[in-house]
Amino acid sequence: MSRLLKLLERGNKPPFHLYTSQLPYTATVSSIQRLTRDGQVSHIVIDHGGNVPFWEGQSYGILPPGENSKRPGTRHPYHLYSIASSRYGDDLSGRSASLCVKRAIYVDPQTGEEDPSKKGVCSNFLCDCKPGDKVDLVGPFGKLMLLNESNPSDSHIMVATGTGVAPFRGFLQRLLEDKMGSRKFEGSAWLFMGAPTAGRLLYNEEFERYARDRPLSFRYDTALSRESCNKRGGRFYVQDRMEEHGEEIFKLLDGGSHIYFCGRKDMLVGVEAVFEEVARRMGEDWRGKLAKLKKNRQWHVEVY
Ligand code: NAP
Repeated sequence: MSRLLKLLERGNKPPFHLYTSQLPYTATVSSIQRLTRDGQVSHIVIDHGGNVPFWEGQSYGILPPGENSKRPGTRHPYHLYSIASSRYGDDLSGRSASLCVKRAIYVDPQTGEEDPSKKGVCSNFLCDCKPGDKVDLVGPFGKLMLLNESNPSDSHIMVATGTGVAPFRGFLQRLLEDKMGSRKFEGSAWLFMGAPTAGRLLYNEEFERYARDRPLSFRYDTALSRESCNKRGGRFYVQDRMEEHGEEIFKLLDGGSHIYFCGRKDMLVGVEAVFEEVARRMGEDWRGKLAKLKKNRQWHVEVY
């Protein structure tokens, strides 16, 4: 482990904006693996040589190569990606970070055809990378989605849609594998994961293994929107799975549990509607409860 990382393990502030768009860090792609059969989502491991340390839940900005056609003479702006590994990286070297990237494609709503001229520059650059390719990094960024480590006995509820699961993979590596530096995790973690089909459950084997090997520390629940229906006959979303455990989730929150949301913006609207209904069933005031969760810093959101 590098000396810098040892220092960071002890520090109480996350690293922030160590590299800028003007002075990025040029890292190297170590490996790239397709996570879905259609090849749309990739797991990309980047070697930063220990020079761009981060905490779980932070993001890197990626500067794609080439000129920005909208502003000739300038580079493309950077695009933010949540880091999908713990600060030690998948290889535990403290020199790598992993990203979970979905290709952004554009389908013309009129013709239904893909228009390659409008595809996402950064996601396609990353998904087309090969080991050895260079990637310019900016950051790290993010103070809102950090794993709260103040008490190793805390419980953590994580709610993800699609690639929004990225920071939670980092959290789980940290809690269940890295042992929060030297402290043993004695709390519980519960991941709710929403995906269209079973084949699109990202990192499913890893999460199933954690649930099998550490059943007292980790629970894993999924919602497959295109394979099941909710009670109103609509697509079964992550909030529908949470509704089934509503009373238990409320009890955990009342006991000080942290809850984290990452992924689609509209998921949060759905979750709040479900929690409002659970509160009504339990004779509680949801607005008041939410205000208290926010005030106690138990409610963490990063949605797009
Ligand atoms: P996605 O395929 O768009 O969605 C994943 C699941 O969410 C699907 O099952 C989808 O269902 C469902 N969903 C749709 N509407 C929903 C709603 N109102 N409530 C709850 N679930 C709903 O996922 P994605 O393309 O990977 O995108 C995830 C989002 O996370 C993006 O907005 C991305 O910007 C963001 N994000 C990414 C990262 C990263 O590092 N890559 C980090 C943080 C956030 P149906 O499609 O069947 O309707």
